[in-house]
Amino acid sequence: MPSEGTAQGIGAGAMLAILRDGQARTRAELAQLTGLARSTVSQRLDALMDHRWVVATEDSISSGGRPAAAFAFNESVRVVLAADLGASHARLAVIDLGMTVLAERAAELPIDGGPEATLTWLVTAFQEMLAETGRDLTQVCGVGVGLPGPVEHASGRPVNPPIMPGWDAFPVPEWLGERLGAPVLVDNDVNIMALGEHWTARPEVDHLIFIKIGTGIGCGIVSDRRLHRGAQGAAGDVGHIRVTSSDVVCRCGNVGCLEAVAGGAAMAAALRAEGVDVQGSRDVVALMRAGSATAAQLIRQAGREVGGVMASIVNFFNPSVIVIGGDIAEAGEHVLAGIREVIYSRSLPLATQHLSIRASELGDRAGVIGAAVMVVEHVLAPGTIDQTMAG
Ligand SMILES: [Zn+2]
Repeated sequence: MPSEGTAQGIGAGAMLAILRDGQARTRAELAQLTGLARSTVSQRLDALMDHRWVVATEDSISSGGRPAAAFAFNESVRVVLAADLGASHARLAVIDLGMTVLAERAAELPIDGGPEATLTWLVTAFQEMLAETGRDLTQVCGVGVGLPGPVEHASGRPVNPPIMPGWDAFPVPEWLGERLGAPVLVDNDVNIMALGEHWTARPEVDHLIFIKIGTGIGCGIVSDRRLHRGAQGAAGDVGHIRVTSSDVVCRCGNVGCLEAVAGGAAMAAALRAEGVDVQGSRDVVALMRAGSATAAQLIRQAGREVGGVMASIVNFFNPSVIVIGGDIAEAGEHVLAGIREVIYSRSLPLATQHLSIRASELGDRAGVIGAAVMVVEHVLAPGTIDQTMAG
């Protein structure tokens, strides 16, 4: 039977959503904001306090007389476990519901070791980190994981990931959920990075593109403040847009892809062809920093190639912010200059009028912050809160 509040569309979950902006509010303020009777507001608050989502505090702004009781979102009541798994390294964090990072860890972890070895390591590391923060598994409300390959979002399973042998269709959410006792959400690494950058840019930015230039190239799209995944979760795969008629072969099997000319792996290969000993995208940036004119030139040219694709995307999607991340973004202005040059010269003036193109603010942390945002938005969605409290 629906409760009175649900019938009016303002359940406990919707009231919690109001309190999530961090401002403590009195019963009177909440009644005014929701249009609910004071008695109903009290009822909702009692339920939220029973579940410790909300704590009573004192209204510091009331002047004179007895301070009114106020209520605030209890950010520290639960934690999220966040993991950003790359091709060879992992970054993990324990983050509370106010997005404060309580513990963080980075490690070398080759993803081609397969799902069971990788995820077993992950479970142990998370348990150690929880112990460090004085928390335990009962306080974990969700787990967010980013993987370096395509993920079917609904099932959280990787789909033919090119650099992840053994991971195809592996049930990551079920496997981790059994061991960590919390809901597990999985997405590809670029999408969670886009969520992380959007979180830092909120609330002004509604339409944002995050482009990762690392070994490969991909982008995450935030449209109307929501991640746009597309029909199958493949949206944003700009690395395989054809940019040249030359027959340079891409790892996807096609020729002339953006990634095959401007990705970190392609730049490293170009340098090796000149007899320079480099392995990957990080080496290319290190070489540029050490003063290599060839590396600097390659990075600038890669920026122009990426800019060419982005110029079309700007016309098509009209974002207000483009954030550049990934290893190659560490090259800073060398890569940004090339991207800006082409976007501003080729996109429509109306689309670029207020467009900001900048490097990632979160850097290496974008993935774990975004993984936590993905989980928090799910766990604290009004519908989920009402459901949890009914159960
Ligand atoms: Zn390709």
